[in-house]
Amino acid sequence: MLSFFPALYPDELLYSTLARYHIRSGNKSFKQTDLELFGYSSQQVCKITLTNNLNYLVINLPLGSQQTVDNLLQNHTLYPFYATFLMPQEAWLLKNSMSKKLSGSILDIVKVATNFSGDSKKFLKFCPECLEKDTQKYGEPYWHRIHQVPGILVCPTHSVVLHDSSVGVESKGIYYHAASMDNCLLPSKVKIFTNKTLQTLFILANEINWLIHSNFTFRGLAWLRAQYQYYLVHKGLLQTFPGGKFKFDEFGFTQLIFEFYGQEFLEALNPKLTQHQGKYFSYCLFGCDLNPAIDRITHILMIKVLANSIEVFFQ
Ligand SMILES: [Zn+2]
Repeated sequence: MLSFFPALYPDELLYSTLARYHIRSGNKSFKQTDLELFGYSSQQVCKITLTNNLNYLVINLPLGSQQTVDNLLQNHTLYPFYATFLMPQEAWLLKNSMSKKLSGSILDIVKVATNFSGDSKKFLKFCPECLEKDTQKYGEPYWHRIHQVPGILVCPTHSVVLHDSSVGVESKGIYYHAASMDNCLLPSKVKIFTNKTLQTLFILANEINWLIHSNFTFRGLAWLRAQYQYYLVHKGLLQTFPGGKFKFDEFGFTQLIFEFYGQEFLEALNPKLTQHQGKYFSYCLFGCDLNPAIDRITHILMIKVLANSIEVFFQ
């Protein structure tokens, strides 16, 4: 049993608390910290955002701890983000996998491509204003869960652009780095967006934030494809013919997306969206139930354009 464990801050990523534990434990190696917290040491991918073996951690928390695996999953990991676009039984499998010692690939379970936009190049993100406010309020900064969610490029609280820290999200090594003034440095060249892009990024951040806090039941990718067809027909972008044949106005749909979001916004989110023009959108619209990986952000963007509201679309 652990002799102490730091209290989790609001919206703190679990990894961040573990890193603060590492500092206070005085352990010389990260491996030692892993052994204390989880009973074993692993080099799992996505360990920072989708921490597993939570049952072990919770059972070993100091006496009197009220912490639950469910609270950690729902409020301190990226589980709720990846649970969107998963059917109830698939979300259960993810929850179950994170509760136990992981066997198999977490990327298969969350349905994310294995070449997952090069996670090795990704870093934990921070908002300069949160960093300052948290330090004033709690005496130390911490990694926020919401800042690490894919598709969120601005802080939903302060509407300022998030920056990369120097702590990589995925690398083969085991490490616990708490947020600090040393690893959260402002870049010398700050990326400047137009007001329109900034505003759209802020709206998207809040939509995703809503999505991960809502508890809707996803009815599956075949249902999603059927929904798309319904909305596309209503917008005059899709004609259906007997025998399952259809004619899709790829150019018209792409124009709609570009007018709605703007080139700068789409490029900031995912350069693939602008490089392949309409092809990638067609692929996500009509092939979503054939591909084992789900590009959640692209789906969210398309849903917003088609239905105006993610909430309406899902309910
Ligand atoms: Zn902030």
